[in-house]
Amino acid sequence: MKGFAYSRASDVDAAIRLIAGNGHAKFLGGGTNLVDLMREEIEQPEHLIDVTRLPLGQIEEQPDGSVRIGALVRNSHLAASRLIRTRYPLLAQAVVMGASGQIRNMATTGGNLMQRTRCQYFYDRDARCNKRMPGAGCDALEGFNRMHAILGASDACIATHPSDMAVALAALDAAVLVRGPAGERAIPLTEFHRLPGDTPHIDTNIRPDELITAVTVPALPFGWHSRYRKVRDRASYAFALVSVAAALDVEAGRIRGARLALGGVAHKPWRAVAAERVLAGATATEETFRAAATHELEAARGFAHNAFKVELAQRTIVRVLNDLLADGEAR
Ligand code: SF4
Repeated sequence: MKGFAYSRASDVDAAIRLIAGNGHAKFLGGGTNLVDLMREEIEQPEHLIDVTRLPLGQIEEQPDGSVRIGALVRNSHLAASRLIRTRYPLLAQAVVMGASGQIRNMATTGGNLMQRTRCQYFYDRDARCNKRMPGAGCDALEGFNRMHAILGASDACIATHPSDMAVALAALDAAVLVRGPAGERAIPLTEFHRLPGDTPHIDTNIRPDELITAVTVPALPFGWHSRYRKVRDRASYAFALVSVAAALDVEAGRIRGARLALGGVAHKPWRAVAAERVLAGATATEETFRAAATHELEAARGFAHNAFKVELAQRTIVRVLNDLLADGEAR
């Protein structure tokens, strides 16, 4: 690991002042991904600004019914929150399915959003990787790409985003609140992470001098009727091959509302808008769910080792929606 300067920010404004104009500085939260990347010398910040003592660790219901999750809320705290578990079970389930208990105790909400891909070539400094070194090439294209993207990829990068939490937040229309020298702004979760295009080294649309302060989740009347399903190689501590976050509102056999997002398939949490369009107003049957899943995956493109993900994603969407439908009928 390369040496670096260390500062501890006393408040949010101080954190922003410390990073302003310092292109080689990074904020340090739980550090569960950043410190790994520094050990491997993939990330080499010259200055770490510790933000872990800032007052951003609360989960609060807002007057309009939305929920504000502070950027420093630990993953374990978020998953255990009664408010989250009852209002948005898909979010609590997604967080529990990420990483290990020890890591969830350290990892923060803001850091979870900022974590980088686990593409093995990104971590291998002998491999060609456009994300690590722009213009170098991409060894995943012709290499072992079983974990890689099937939607929204480019010729420059086929990596996936590793977060489970962000997939649930994408389904919930969450927004990321960030503060920088110009003040605070809200970035829709679905626009926070980027597709790779020809700039895969830029993961997100947050500016280098901005700090995530919170995530807001709007009220969703049928949010309680939701589920997160993660398909992976091991029962725990494994990244998703495919995951599905879904919420479903059915009345008298007709779909009044549906939210759907996919993980493990793209460079960002993938909001399944094409599937949602098929579901809206349709009869709630397995046939409808299949049509929605097929429509969403029409643009999917598999590579040598991950083409199976296309059918896996379709089947997982249908399974989750069927489960939610059966749940609803049982109530
Ligand atoms: Fe790098 Fe992306 Fe290619 Fe992986 S898929 S080697 S992260 S450019």
